[in-house]
Formats: sequence, C-alpha cells, structure tokens
Amino acid sequence: MFDPSDIEAKKDALIWSAKRCFDLGLQTNAGGNLSVRLSSGPGIVIKPSGIGFAECSRDNLQVVHLDGTIEPSAFKPSKDMDFHLDLYRIRSDINAIVHCHSPWATGFASAGIEIPCLTVQTIEKIGRMPLIPLSDNGGPQTEVEISPVFEDTSVRAAVLANHGTIGVGKTLTAAQYLAEIIEETAHIAFVRDTLMAAHGKTAADLPVYGTAKEARGE
Ligand SMILES: [Zn+2]
Repeated sequence: MFDPSDIEAKKDALIWSAKRCFDLGLQTNAGGNLSVRLSSGPGIVIKPSGIGFAECSRDNLQVVHLDGTIEPSAFKPSKDMDFHLDLYRIRSDINAIVHCHSPWATGFASAGIEIPCLTVQTIEKIGRMPLIPLSDNGGPQTEVEISPVFEDTSVRAAVLANHGTIGVGKTLTAAQYLAEIIEETAHIAFVRDTLMAAHGKTAADLPVYGTAKEARGE
C-alpha cells in the first residue's frame, strides 16, 4: 500500500537525521528514537529497538502502519513506538519526531527543572518546552503522559524527566533542528545559571525581552 520510492526516500532522510544526532553527541548507544511520516499512506518509518543512531540503514528501519501493524521485520519494535504513533494520530501537523537522550537537556529534566527559553531564538521558535514527569508508577513516560501535552498544537518540543527530549515538526529537518536547539538551550541555561550563582546575580538582574514582533510593537 505504501509507495516503495516514498519508503526509500523517508528511510534515507531518517538515516541522515540519525547520523547528525550521533555526530553532534545528542544520542550515543542504541537509545532514543526517531521517525517520519510516509506520504503515500497512513504509516511511518521508525528506528527499531537495539539499533544505534549511527547504525540505522535501509535494512533495519521499520515501516509501521498508524494502527500499530509492523511490516515484516527481523527487528524488535522500539519501546517508544506507541508514543510516536499516538502523536502522529493526534497531530496532523506532525510529520517527524526526533527523540534523544541528549545529556544537557536530560540533566535538567532529571533535576526536575524545565529548560527555560532564554534566547531570542527559543522565544520566537519554541515558546515553551514543557517538562513531562515520569509515569504514575515511576516508570518511563508513555503516550499516557506525553500525548496530553502535545494535544496543545503550539507545543513543538518537550523534555521527559529522567529520560530525554522530544522535537516534532512538519518536516524531519524541522524536528531535527528542534532536538538540537533543546540541547543547545539546556547547555546555555546551565552556563548562565552557573555564572549567575558565581557572581551573586538573581533573576531580577536579567533583562526582560520578547520576540522581534513585540519589539516592533506588532
Ligand atoms: Zn527514550
């Protein structure tokens, strides 16, 4: 039912994104996950369980229908697959998801601190990155915790406590850039907060600023 050339193109795009995450240190080992929506039918291409971002290939990426049916594959589905599928079902504007366990962002999430949108870029492009707590029994987040946050269509990025980050987008490149911006922002926030503490500064010493539109009075 899916167009083979669509599947091939989406697999190649996912391999590009996964390699970029690995090269940037956003994801080592076999953790994290990423997926992209197919154009030729209701389904996605997704990384399976146990395959590292640097090892993604046309042979191991899986094709999964939005109802959860997995096309024949020698690999185990990812534990994250259900939340990916759910986000595609509830948000027609989401065509790609990049989920990483990137260290700076996951450090903030593990300290129970929401990463502040403290740069002009993050205020303009993201607005807010909600922190999603662990599941009620203390386990990793599933669609039960994640989907309600993304029901708000303005949410493009979120951070999972003790787990990692989620960037979504209309395109894979957009979702990829968000995964990078989340990590970059956590790094900047850590440097800011460390310097402020060392120099005895408080939030009252910081400038208040908004978007370029607001600056123009629009
Ligand atoms: Zn994960």
